[in-house]
Amino acid sequence: TKTLRLILGDQLNASHSWYREVDDSVIYVLAELHQEQQYVKHHVQKIVAFFLSMQRFAEALRQAGHQVLLLDLDDTAEFVDLPALLAELCKRHHIDCLEYQRPDEYRLVEQMRSLDVPVASINEVDTEHFYLPFDEIDDYFSADTAVRMETFYRKMRARFDVLMDDAEPLGGQWNFDADNRNKLKQSDLADIPAALLFESNIQPILSRLERHNIEYFGVIDNGLSWPTSRQEARQLLAFFCAHCLPKFGRFQDAMTAKSDSAWSLYHSRLSFALNAKIIDPKTVITKAIEAHRARPDEIDLAQIEGFVRQILGWREFVRGIYWVNMPTYSERNALEASNALPAYFWNGETKMRCMQFSLGQSLEHAYAHHIQRLMVIGNFCLLTGMHPDAVDAWYLGVYIDAIEWVEMPNTRGMCQFSDGGLVASKPYAASGSYINRMSDYCGDCHYAVKKKVGEDACPFNSLYWHFMHRHRDRFGNNPRIGMVYRNLDKMDEALRAETLERAEVLMADLDSL
Ligand code: FAD
Ligand code: SF4
Repeated sequence: TKTLRLILGDQLNASHSWYREVDDSVIYVLAELHQEQQYVKHHVQKIVAFFLSMQRFAEALRQAGHQVLLLDLDDTAEFVDLPALLAELCKRHHIDCLEYQRPDEYRLVEQMRSLDVPVASINEVDTEHFYLPFDEIDDYFSADTAVRMETFYRKMRARFDVLMDDAEPLGGQWNFDADNRNKLKQSDLADIPAALLFESNIQPILSRLERHNIEYFGVIDNGLSWPTSRQEARQLLAFFCAHCLPKFGRFQDAMTAKSDSAWSLYHSRLSFALNAKIIDPKTVITKAIEAHRARPDEIDLAQIEGFVRQILGWREFVRGIYWVNMPTYSERNALEASNALPAYFWNGETKMRCMQFSLGQSLEHAYAHHIQRLMVIGNFCLLTGMHPDAVDAWYLGVYIDAIEWVEMPNTRGMCQFSDGGLVASKPYAASGSYINRMSDYCGDCHYAVKKKVGEDACPFNSLYWHFMHRHRDRFGNNPRIGMVYRNLDKMDEALRAETLERAEVLMADLDSL
């Protein structure tokens, strides 16, 4: 029998059992697909990173002796979609059996399961990437049911024996979040490591994008700074363990504009390599824990626990939420948000310094770290009632690591509360004072962070109170935010009226901020 095995762009897992043996009757296919450029407009670095990684993966497979078909945009231009391409390849190569790894995106699973191709059998196999086996997602999650990340995370720690001391968490504590809320002081800035960047020849890919009129946005330098091979991903992981992990937890939520490395800080920048499966979560966690064990004084438990929680906790958690709630998750809009994104989401030109910086680096690097995504850009979208479809499309397009299964529960769920609280137990809404507490953005801003009203008042302040006021029916009884409503009620009546009025004025012309 002759077998064709499809490898999607985010399935670049060289340790997959498929590759254990070289078999001349198996052809592997990787293809630059036009359909993947059309469902949303992507940042140019994201397209280039996927294409380059696929190219390098194909080269590595060939070197290991496998037969590989690498099809570029020229080769696939005549096919309307992936099923049409696969049907033709099966015919052309007299294929008996088509095999694919289960896609992580609902849209692609649907497409693969409804294939109509001239072969005797079609097999779906696992990607062998995540900690939690796909079939066990249902043991931890149910549709339309809120699951708390912390509960799930503790089960994962115990189940996979990560940072455990028999049945107890190492150090007697599951969570060191309280130690992870430091602001960067002036004296901390000089120590921030310069991000490790990679270089590659991207010109042929850019020419192909141009030749095929692929629409994209954002900028790209001569090279691409993201890791696109397993060797580079491992290099980035080693760099992270050496230079960033010692302060990862401490400054995880911090933001600054005053360092050349402000865009990356102590973050790993491994999300693209992880999501493309170039590197696997077990390798990342194992190496980080090894570094902690080797240098416990430098990398204390709060730092390593903070990092493990992101990957073993949050990353596996959002995948569970996604799968048990799709396809209807993508239609949720619990707060009935309906506004359109202002133009500065595409050019960074706003007087709000926090947004200018966070949007600016998203457009420049296809990257923002978590708190910028959640508490600056996402918070702004939440407070101003941006339609979750528009928010999803922007996040899915702009970030180097954005693939729907991880992007959507973070954006629609955690950040926009559009799922009605399946991910977050309360909305991540904050006024300017939170941004001021965690960053140095406000000092250089056109707006005054302490003011609620007046032309120069920080927009986040009045917008915050307006958000709380207009959603009182939903949140008024939530014990986790009762205090907020007590403060709103205690506010001087004239000031409250003026604050809400100022928000209405802002909402009527968000483009002018
Ligand atoms: P680090 O800070 O170094 O963290 C290490 C790793 O932990 C990351 O590489 C990532 O794999 C994982 N991780 C951390 N937080 C999360 C999380 N909330 N959900 C899932 N994994 C997490 N992450 C994506 O991978 N793709 C997305 O499209 C995406 N969209 C987001 C949208 C919003 C609104 C928010 C609030 C967060 C989003 N995240 C997304 C999560 C997080 O912001 C990124 O994973 C992180 O910023 C990537 O940078 P890093 O690799 O330097 O992460
Ligand atoms: Fe952002 Fe307000 Fe601070 Fe300006 S003052 S940086 S708008 S939080």
